[in-house]
Amino acid sequence: MEFEKELKPESELKPLPDPDKLGFGIHFTDHMFIMDYQEGKGWHSPRIVPYQNFSLDPASVVFHYGQAIFEGLKAYKGKDGRIRLFRPRENTKRLNRSAWRMCIPQMDEELVLKAIKEIVKVDSRWVPDQHGTSLYIRPFIIATEAFLGVRPSKEYIFSIILSPVGAYYAEGFNPVKIFVTEKYVRAAKGGVGEAKTAGNYAASLMASEEAKELGFTQVLWLDAAERKYIEEVGTMNIFFLLDDTLVTPALSGSILPGITRDSVIHLAKDWGIKVEERPISINEVMEKAESGQLKECFGSGTAAVISPVGSLYYKGKSYMVNGGKTGELAQRLFDEITGIQYGEKEDKYGWIEFVE
Ligand SMILES: *Cc1c(COP(=O)(O)O)cnc(C)c1O
Repeated sequence: MEFEKELKPESELKPLPDPDKLGFGIHFTDHMFIMDYQEGKGWHSPRIVPYQNFSLDPASVVFHYGQAIFEGLKAYKGKDGRIRLFRPRENTKRLNRSAWRMCIPQMDEELVLKAIKEIVKVDSRWVPDQHGTSLYIRPFIIATEAFLGVRPSKEYIFSIILSPVGAYYAEGFNPVKIFVTEKYVRAAKGGVGEAKTAGNYAASLMASEEAKELGFTQVLWLDAAERKYIEEVGTMNIFFLLDDTLVTPALSGSILPGITRDSVIHLAKDWGIKVEERPISINEVMEKAESGQLKECFGSGTAAVISPVGSLYYKGKSYMVNGGKTGELAQRLFDEITGIQYGEKEDKYGWIEFVE
């Protein structure tokens, strides 16, 4: 399928933002990808157009019942000037899994991947080239039928927007202080925690606002049924190095299956580290912190890659991890994954796809 392209004339292109002040998700590029769905017609009219507003009926399903999903990945420019995507097929697969859960019609994954590559190519001058910076890619689907009944929408828009983002660790790693919340939960088994769906993030805001007010960076989520087993940290997956074993909660239905999580597991196993995907209770972590067996703790996700945890606060007590410093394994994983992303390390696993 060929995409129709309506490109801006050169004279109307936006000035590029200062590469030292990109931040996250503030600036948007010149163009966007759009495709429509109508029942009976399927997905149709894929096109690249100037970045613009949507015009939607106020009764659109997305505004009322939140039938919306998204993805997040990045394009990286290496020293060789080539633009790389990191495991983008995993994002297109996950988009369809989220779509399935939210009763959104399935998409052709090859077409989604092609759309990602083409829109990045059209706006390739926006891929920043300083190490650590990247072009964040946000594919998303919203339900657009004007209808107030509760049933799946019969119309949708799939779109991709792009935002140049700064280095997450411009000043080096800064291990974060985590608040273990017992009051709120992110997702329950049988719910939509596995899906990258809009409402999960709205549901998480109160807990992180309260944690921030208390001086913490993020919250650690426990399971909804018992408030006992660890699930995720903020919007990242979580890992614990207990003695020499790397432990992460098993994908249980309420945890988002992170692509960075999968990459960490893959690399650690390849390096001969024992990896366990299993239920891990907060009590086990606290005991191992007290006995000195908790060597490291870190989050994983596309935005930060690896986010070292410096301390955990639970039931009125603070537990330091690795003296509040970044652990060796966290650093090694960060260096390896970013090395592959920027084309500085060998892509042994075939994780890279080029945009050209
Ligand atoms: C996106 C996301 C992650 C991380 O997934 P990656 O594919 O590694 O970026 C983890 N948890 C939640 C809740 C997420 O939304």
